[in-house]
Amino acid sequence: MADRDGKIWYDGEMVDWRDATTHVLTHTLHYGMGVFEGVRAYETPKGPAIFRLEDHTARLFRSAKILGMALPFTPQQISQAHLDVVKANGLKSCYFRPMAFYGSGKLGVAPLKNDVRVIVAAWPWGAYLGDEGLEKGIRVKTSSFTRHHVNITMCKAKANGNYMNSILANNEATADGYDEALLLDVDGFVAEGSGENIFIIRKGKLYTPDLTSALEGITRDTVVQISKEMGLELVEKRITRDEVYSADEAFFTGTAAEVTPIRELDRRAIGDGNRGTITAEIQKRYFDIVKGLDAEHQHWLTYVN
Ligand code: PMP
Repeated sequence: MADRDGKIWYDGEMVDWRDATTHVLTHTLHYGMGVFEGVRAYETPKGPAIFRLEDHTARLFRSAKILGMALPFTPQQISQAHLDVVKANGLKSCYFRPMAFYGSGKLGVAPLKNDVRVIVAAWPWGAYLGDEGLEKGIRVKTSSFTRHHVNITMCKAKANGNYMNSILANNEATADGYDEALLLDVDGFVAEGSGENIFIIRKGKLYTPDLTSALEGITRDTVVQISKEMGLELVEKRITRDEVYSADEAFFTGTAAEVTPIRELDRRAIGDGNRGTITAEIQKRYFDIVKGLDAEHQHWLTYVN
């Protein structure tokens, strides 16, 4: 992470960016047992607003529950910490990284003798898959790595260790010149991207994989709501990679990735190989909502000031 001035919320205190460190024997560093979130605040006409903050905090606590990790703060304290770091850093828009991890009391697989420590950091972050990706769409490769099996790790937890699978897939795809990976589940059906849920569109109908082995994305849920408001039919079902090849449009969703069109999978152009028209409309509505330009969805915004 870049060296910078600023503050990070760390176990209830505002700590200087450069002092927000931890010991090399930190349990989570060794074994990956921790939980985190990715949250964004956008600049709106009424100042910075955090998008679906309560939902992200609730997922952080659900992830901790799934891993059997007791967080030493309340959801209200964690949500408040987000507001506090925006103010402490004077940010107009940002990406947040809340994370809970086991400290350095005792090494060995059992983490329970270690304190649970919590951070909320925030910094400015642009389009995750690039501005050009948002406009023109990205090129995606089906990964040789399979998405986690539901009884090998806990797919519904946004758990640190789960991301080794994501990194292997993303590294493979980007080393081969693609922008992102698409992971299939153990049965060979489409699961999700390395950090995104996926939607496809065929004959005006929207399809997205069920959530068996994919993360319950908050952006996915937002797009489900947007599609209802657009009067689009949405089908949640198992999807095969050849259904993606023959889709008219496809896109990824994620807090970091926002709504990113997919223009190609495995060297097959999706539709005409550009951002699709329905995708463009969903994307526009999404950005209007997060930027506070849509009067109907103000309940999803937590204004900082
Ligand atoms: N799947 C994975 C594996 C992710 O890491 C993310 C990003 N959190 C998502 C899907 C999308 O989730 P959200 O829309 O809540 O950011």
